[in-house]
Amino acid sequence: MKGYCIMSIVEIKNLNKTYPSFRLKDVSFSIKEGEITGFVGRNGSGKTTTIKSMLNLVHPDSGEITYFGKSFIENETEIKQMLGYSTGTIAWYPRKRLKDVVEVVKRFYDTWDESAYLKYLEMFGLDPSKTARELSEGMKVKCNLLIALSHKAKVLILDEPTSGLDPFSRDELLGLFKRLKKEGVAIFFSTHIISDLEKCADNIVYITNGEIAASLSNEAFFNTYSKDGESLEDCILRLERGEFNA
Ligand code: ADP
Repeated sequence: MKGYCIMSIVEIKNLNKTYPSFRLKDVSFSIKEGEITGFVGRNGSGKTTTIKSMLNLVHPDSGEITYFGKSFIENETEIKQMLGYSTGTIAWYPRKRLKDVVEVVKRFYDTWDESAYLKYLEMFGLDPSKTARELSEGMKVKCNLLIALSHKAKVLILDEPTSGLDPFSRDELLGLFKRLKKEGVAIFFSTHIISDLEKCADNIVYITNGEIAASLSNEAFFNTYSKDGESLEDCILRLERGEFNA
């Protein structure tokens, strides 16, 4: 056991949201400072609904969300200064160039850091004179990340950031996550690519049918659920089949 306690900077408690054919049920978990938390579950399990609720882009029916110990609903503007997020649905104006979008967006952030912006622009290989319709899906994710990183977000909440990326860009992005966590950034990202979790996640939050089935450190998840020699992917596939007894 570690001799110190890493602070939770995001707490989600008993989040509920009902759609006609789906229910998010008492979703609770926390996100820790300087750690990477992977949010895994099959399509339709409720990952995007959870993430959008965490950002008030979807209004949950009930539940409590705190960032840095403060209620999100009561302090949304202040808290959003410290968050970077990408939900894949951010409206990129199709005819606007990246640099024009950035000119507008940066005014919203007191913490905008132009040198960080230029650094990540180069790292991601993005051309600021390109318009959104000239960008691939993967490049749009990179644009969202670019903006998040340029205002020194302390928490990154990313919905499927790796899914539109080629294996090389995915690897680069996971490498970047590892560097950011050393700077104390908390990263929460959803994925259905289990190898993403194996490569970089400190913690796993596993959702199935709108319910959190496990929220554990990567190591504890493995020790609790994996059968001898079973890969994380095989383990999660087995859990999805309802076979919980290792
Ligand atoms: P995931 O991100 O894990 O694929 P989602 O959170 O997107 O899952 O979706 C969970 C379920 O909620 C799906 O069955 C989806 O059809 C449903 N759902 C999502 N958004 C809405 C909505 N606005 N209205 C009705 N049903 C929705």
